[in-house]
Amino acid sequence: MQQYGQFIGGEWAPSSSKRTFDTQNPATGEVLATFPQGTRDDVRRAIDAAEAALPKWRSTPAPRRGELLLEAARIMRVRKRELGELVTKEMGKVIAEGLGDVQESIDFLEYIAGEGRRLLGETTTSELRSRFSMWVRRPKGVVGCITPWNFPTAIPTWKIGAALVSGNTVVFKPASYTPLCVAKLAEVYAEAGLPPGVLNVVTGPGSSVGNEIVENPRVRHVSFTGGVPTGIDVYARAAKLLKSIELELGGKNPVIVMDDANLDLALEGVLFGAFGTAGQRCTATSRLIVHEAVYDEVVGKLVDRTRALKVGNGMDPKVDVGPVVSKEQERAILDYVRIGLEEGAKLLVGGEKLTGGAYDRGFFLEPTVFEARHGMRVTKEEIFGPVLSVMKVPSYEAAVKVANDVEYGLSSSIYTRNVNLAMKAIEVLEAGITYVNAPTIGAECHMPFGGVKDTGNGHREGGWTAYDIFSEPKTVYIDYSGALQKAQIDNAEY
Ligand code: NDP
Repeated sequence: MQQYGQFIGGEWAPSSSKRTFDTQNPATGEVLATFPQGTRDDVRRAIDAAEAALPKWRSTPAPRRGELLLEAARIMRVRKRELGELVTKEMGKVIAEGLGDVQESIDFLEYIAGEGRRLLGETTTSELRSRFSMWVRRPKGVVGCITPWNFPTAIPTWKIGAALVSGNTVVFKPASYTPLCVAKLAEVYAEAGLPPGVLNVVTGPGSSVGNEIVENPRVRHVSFTGGVPTGIDVYARAAKLLKSIELELGGKNPVIVMDDANLDLALEGVLFGAFGTAGQRCTATSRLIVHEAVYDEVVGKLVDRTRALKVGNGMDPKVDVGPVVSKEQERAILDYVRIGLEEGAKLLVGGEKLTGGAYDRGFFLEPTVFEARHGMRVTKEEIFGPVLSVMKVPSYEAAVKVANDVEYGLSSSIYTRNVNLAMKAIEVLEAGITYVNAPTIGAECHMPFGGVKDTGNGHREGGWTAYDIFSEPKTVYIDYSGALQKAQIDNAEY
């Protein structure tokens, strides 16, 4: 079993706490590695290292910074199978998705590496003669990144890649369920030639490591992905320091199936969206809103197909749904099944923990479908597990009303053959992402990614919008008139 330290200043070092925690395979209970229980002091040491590395890194030309990220992508490609299997072993998603997690990391690094040759600012006219106006991007400085466990390589890579190409140095805190994936990423970046101190990884709980990242004034920006309750807490702490902060939070994502939809296509999309990654995606389909004219057909087929899904260890390529990440997650999901039943939702399939044989070693749940009424807690709160609530509606208007009547606004989808309806839905669905005739999952890394309402605070990761998160505009005026020119005063005359 591997024993890791904190990755600070290019070296693996023990924590000042001298305490450790294990990371485990949620399918088997096997302990995969041991990590230090980080302290606030560990974070301060990581910030020291990141500050020391900053002047040289931010003055390294952005194309060169991009080249290092491209080299990291190349190494990941070579190690894709090993890293993908690790994702499956540490987090539980099935192997095709574990490999997909790593592929998303590779895609993003290849994309962002090229952006090192752009990092676009703008030039514009000046209101004064012989004066040149432009704005350029400057790094924010030492940035802190805090991530969840459900995309244990892809989400860290989205943050690290965009932060580094923009010229920041990073103090990174992985989720405590998936530190090994991030430790392997740190190894990849070091092998690619990233200078010591540019990326530092501190493992340990949110209450010590996370809070120090958020509260230390030397961390100039925090990039956080996680749940709404944690996000609100982090936001409030950062506000006291007027700290720049980006929040990417939860979702309660709807699929609308209209009466003219290709129902088989919709069904495939719903099954993948609801039960892929055992429903543990921020973009997972957790609400299915079906036009009454096709409701019975859709629900009948959905129940049969859900019952046929194979649940098991994600390393088996025949398995459709892996375990959920932990005992706590399992309990929280089963609590929601109980809540649904108490509220009067009808359990159409699933709802139980799987037991017996290999199931007893892990956290396996039956894929679950409720027939629910809009307004029940299972239709409004994020469950983050393989639980889908189906609702019947009489019209497109009613479907949109139900879809929008939640506090979240990340992803959404409509299945219809009517192009007018699809275009209208794009206009009115309150979500950062709308898919037409495709499930709520499947984001591509070169496109802006994020949500509205309680899903975040208005930023978009991915794509070129990532720079807005990790850089500051610096406005520049160059006066070559040789005279003092007064804006708003001297330009009054021609
Ligand atoms: P949590 O909010 O529980 O944790 C997220 C991260 O925050 C973890 O690293 C956690 O550390 C850390 N943390 C916990 N407390 C604090 C604190 N006080 N200060 C700073 N950091 C803290 O979320 P989960 O890990 O359970 O992830 C699931 C959630 O993430 C879901 O709501 C999901 O929708 C959301 N998510 C959003 C995405 C998006 O892009 N919008 C993408 C993916 C997931 P530790 O692990 O040590 O507790």
